[in-house]
Amino acid sequence: MFDAKTVMLLWAAETLTLAFLLLGMWLRQRAKTQYLLFASGFALNTIGCVLVMLRGEIPNFASIQVGNTVALLGFACWLAGLLKISGKKIEGWVAIPALLWVAFMFVPPVRDSMAYRIVLYHTAAGLGYLMLASVLLNYKGKRSPTRKTLASLLVFQALCGAITAYVVIKHNMATGNVVPLTTITAIYGALFFVAVITLSAMLYIEETEKRLHLLATTDELTGVRNRRGLTEEFERLAKRSASSGHSVALILFDIDHFKKINDRYGHQSGDIALTRFSRMAETIISETGMFVRMGGEEFALLVETALPDRAIMVAETIRLHLARTPLDDGKQTIPMTVSVGIATDNSGAPDLHALMTIADRALYAAKKAGRNRTVFFNGENNVVIAANDRDEDPMDNNADRQVAALARITAIANR
Ligand code: GH3
Ligand code: MG
Ligand code: MG
Repeated sequence: MFDAKTVMLLWAAETLTLAFLLLGMWLRQRAKTQYLLFASGFALNTIGCVLVMLRGEIPNFASIQVGNTVALLGFACWLAGLLKISGKKIEGWVAIPALLWVAFMFVPPVRDSMAYRIVLYHTAAGLGYLMLASVLLNYKGKRSPTRKTLASLLVFQALCGAITAYVVIKHNMATGNVVPLTTITAIYGALFFVAVITLSAMLYIEETEKRLHLLATTDELTGVRNRRGLTEEFERLAKRSASSGHSVALILFDIDHFKKINDRYGHQSGDIALTRFSRMAETIISETGMFVRMGGEEFALLVETALPDRAIMVAETIRLHLARTPLDDGKQTIPMTVSVGIATDNSGAPDLHALMTIADRALYAAKKAGRNRTVFFNGENNVVIAANDRDEDPMDNNADRQVAALARITAIANR
């Protein structure tokens, strides 16, 4: 149905279209060199294919030696583009498929046999596909199904190349001719091309969405999540708590007299203080909860816990750490304290709005009781957690203090 030249022409038309499309993308965003690399990959592949296609009409050297090398250099550019996207260094090994071809052109039996050359091309290209798959899978984040499917397709393509090579050799040994596989190759090639491009486009959209989502849920100044991030994490935990039975605790932090810190040390130092506080809190909680900036000098921590003690312990650790280590902005040391309000859910169906209201009231109680303290709503009362790092406010309710002392003992026991 199709002859070899038609097949290659079809392939060249597809790759050339993509080369132009990617070149257009690069012209709009010059900083994204991966577009240029991918465009070059498709352009080289096109040129290589056209040269191979012109065998008999142009000198053999240009068609065979140069044509295949140029086509295989396409892999070098694709691999470089993929490495660039993955944030990895582009290294010389990306040229291995092309170099393999060049090396065997110095081996006369291979160079002079069409069957061996077909085998060599499929081996080199197969290696290229495997290398692409390996870069795709060597990815720091979670591998999405799209990423895995694309990698599998590339491995499958390498396998198909091996099968083609095997068939060519067998046929050649039996008849002395090269087997005409062109119709199957054309149909399969077109399908493969469409599948790879579709999957790559899907992967590109997924990655873009992920980046935008991260941007939308990150606080610009401190780099921690923002209120939107908290809402999303809460919904995730709430869904999980229904099945796991774990409840959630919401801890609100409000830095004490922050306006004075700004006035005394300058707004810029205030910014540094907010960033350092975020970093410190994140280090303390490590991966056990989500620390977010609600806005201004207000922060929140969401933890999944069945016991309030754990929430109290984390809150007190952060509060004490801040009170004991004045922040150094490079010029001066800035003493800072924070007030904390804790709300826990024991309904099994946590509601963010309700928790926020309770924690906010507890926080207000902490401010009223003299700041630099943690207040926990125990279901009936706001309890000031007693601590020996400050002179206690005489207004503290005695019974509440006993409850608080108990809570602290449990917290220590749990440590
Ligand atoms: P309190 O102990 O009652 O919480 O007193 P406060 O001064 O901390 O509270 P208030 O809400 O009155 O003031 C918050 C201050 O935080 C006012 C605002 O200028 C400052 N602030 C809000 N966002 C930022 C920021 O991004 N950077 C800096 N440097 N300051 C900020
Ligand atoms: Mg405030
Ligand atoms: Mg404040």
